[in-house]
Amino acid sequence: MDFILALLICLVIFMLGASLGSFLNVVLCRKPKKEDFIKKRSYCPECNHTLKWYELIPVFSFLLQKGRCRNCQTRIRAQYLIMEIFCGGANVWAFLAMGFNIETVFAFILFPVLVALSIEDIKKTEIPYWCTGTITVLGLAATLISVFHPTKVMWYEHLIGLVIISLPFAVFCYLGAMGGGDVQLTAAAGLLIGWAIVPSVLVAMIVGGIFGLFVKLSKKRATICFGPFLAIGIAAGYIYGYDIIQWYSGIFR
Ligand SMILES: [Zn+2]
Repeated sequence: MDFILALLICLVIFMLGASLGSFLNVVLCRKPKKEDFIKKRSYCPECNHTLKWYELIPVFSFLLQKGRCRNCQTRIRAQYLIMEIFCGGANVWAFLAMGFNIETVFAFILFPVLVALSIEDIKKTEIPYWCTGTITVLGLAATLISVFHPTKVMWYEHLIGLVIISLPFAVFCYLGAMGGGDVQLTAAAGLLIGWAIVPSVLVAMIVGGIFGLFVKLSKKRATICFGPFLAIGIAAGYIYGYDIIQWYSGIFR
């Protein structure tokens, strides 16, 4: 019975994450066109058919309709399905790793935004301002909470996190070795997770380095953007960052 209950909770969390992912996808698609993404109902961009509620269920609608519009049978972009699965999956991961507390609630917003900015960085090699802006708001909220209610990260550690990576990155950026979006992202995420931004960036560099090596070995020409790897690192750092720091400092004791 406990197992079924846990499974049900995971399903609910998955669907909530996938719904947020679905919404963020609409923002990604409409914001560049300056279309309203809150009041305007979802529609098929091909035949303008307004989607009914049963065409808007994350993941399931896509699978049931075999990835096509019900009205005109045009293929729906796979980006929708990918976003929804990743956002739902990331939120279930956060819940399984951290249980249910205020940090998990923050993760339920942070992780889908990380997925959205990764997809946009892969497609357009730029990280949207509203993504880093959202993470900054989360960071400010976390800092404010830590002032009144001591949490894992002290208020001044949030401020250290803000600058410890982003300042050296800003120098790289000035020298042309790094994009400005990466600097903003490390600043915003650092404000949110404090010291954990250091292992986050290490994870990003290791994963990005391995990936880059594979790309080089396969001799495919591809530009690798750092955003998705930073996103993976930040998610890992958010959950395991302080464990990694503790383990690391334990080695030298
Ligand atoms: Zn259509």
